[in-house]
Amino acid sequence: MSKDQKGKVENEVMDSIVSLCKRRGFIFQGSEIYGGLAGTWDYGPLGVALKNNIKKIWWKRFVDDREDMYGVDAAILMNQRTWEASGHVGGFADPLVECKKCQHRFRADQLEADASGNPTKKCPDCSGALGEVRQFNMMFKTHVGAAEDATAVSYLRPETAQGMFVNFKNVLDTFHPSLPFGLAQIGKAFRNEIAPRDFIFRSREFEQMEIEYFVKPAEWSKAFSHFQEQVHGFISDIGLNASKVHELEVPDGERAHYSKRTIDFEFDFPFGKKELYGLAYRTDFDLKQHAEYSKVDLSYFDEENKERFVPHCIEPSFGLDRTVLAVLTDAYTEDSMGSEVGDENEKEKRVFLKLSPAVAPFKVAVFPLLKNKPALVTKAREVFGTLKTEFAKAGLQGVTFDDNGNIGKRYRRQDEIGTPFCVTVDFDTIEKGTGVTVRDRDYGKQERIAEADLVKWLVEKVK
Ligand code: ATP
Repeated sequence: MSKDQKGKVENEVMDSIVSLCKRRGFIFQGSEIYGGLAGTWDYGPLGVALKNNIKKIWWKRFVDDREDMYGVDAAILMNQRTWEASGHVGGFADPLVECKKCQHRFRADQLEADASGNPTKKCPDCSGALGEVRQFNMMFKTHVGAAEDATAVSYLRPETAQGMFVNFKNVLDTFHPSLPFGLAQIGKAFRNEIAPRDFIFRSREFEQMEIEYFVKPAEWSKAFSHFQEQVHGFISDIGLNASKVHELEVPDGERAHYSKRTIDFEFDFPFGKKELYGLAYRTDFDLKQHAEYSKVDLSYFDEENKERFVPHCIEPSFGLDRTVLAVLTDAYTEDSMGSEVGDENEKEKRVFLKLSPAVAPFKVAVFPLLKNKPALVTKAREVFGTLKTEFAKAGLQGVTFDDNGNIGKRYRRQDEIGTPFCVTVDFDTIEKGTGVTVRDRDYGKQERIAEADLVKWLVEKVK
């Protein structure tokens, strides 16, 4: 397949995913009724459910299941000195270039080179001449309080990391943990990206799940390897195809100023291999900077060896929206199996999200075969109630009731939103007591399961 053809197919896949997300209530354009706001996206009911499932899995692995991790939820607005200390005021910038003719703006490092391999001087939109490259700071600046002078300046945080460094001492003083220990946080981050693109891959408002893990200086390498494994563990928890994840050792000269070692975890998105997560060894850079700027001592006293030092830090950083996109693009499947109850047209192509039950917004949908037969509806409601209660007891959510449209439409809808199992109450259920049918999303196969076995059968599959 030529590069052009490949590009086209990839865009078609992305177009199909974006349209599915909108049609089924996963993700909408931000401020859509006003024509949108570039680089912002709103999550609808199913998008929130998917995102929450991912967050819960992350929090469980990295906080709840461990004894050395402390959760925080720091304010998005922080004292401006934070961003001077971290280096963001001086250096959090991308190279910006503007077309002199159409005034469109681009990130200079994302433009394709010209035929001789030099940076292009032509606008990709109108072929006009591009101006000089200048550095553009990506932080959103704002003013806190009524005064709009320099002392009131603050920024919407461009990363959650700094909220943890400034709370290092608070956690140390209240919980007295011994090294190694970490702080973990999930929250919004904001970057005024020059060219937001690729749906939720690069947006101006997004969520991060980050850890700052503090260690003795000599132990950084051990902790780095540990989190390298943990990243893959999390990728497996959410059911992402491991063969689409690639590690990139970021070479000297290309790492952020604070990092002595960085691995980017890249993912095969339909638009190319791109960064999904990062893992960095940040040395003692951040704590030292904050100690210097705040004049507060951020050192640690090691009781065992009776020595005082500034801990070093390992940072695994996960983009939540990029995780959602990776999960959606990985799960998006078209097959020619057709809907077993659809009409001829429907049989041509079936679209479904092959989501892992762990992240799927709904694990099980319960239907009455026909919605105008009260006996079927009553029985289906009863099965639905039982499943909901029993799932809750097993620590699970995501049981839904669906009687909209005919059963073929319901299967199609549940396929498209990635529901792994559909339970149908039919006439045999109520007249012969032979149980319900359970349809498997991936194979379209139906099995009859006795009512008494249903909960156990489903809980086992879903867990
Ligand atoms: P990129 O090179 O793609 O701009 P980055 O290296 O600047 O990313 P980091 O600063 O390491 O990204 O941020 C940590 C994580 O936050 C990234 O791995 C990514 O998952 C996520 N992230 C960063 N920028 C964005 C964005 N604009 N939109 C969505 N997620 C983002």
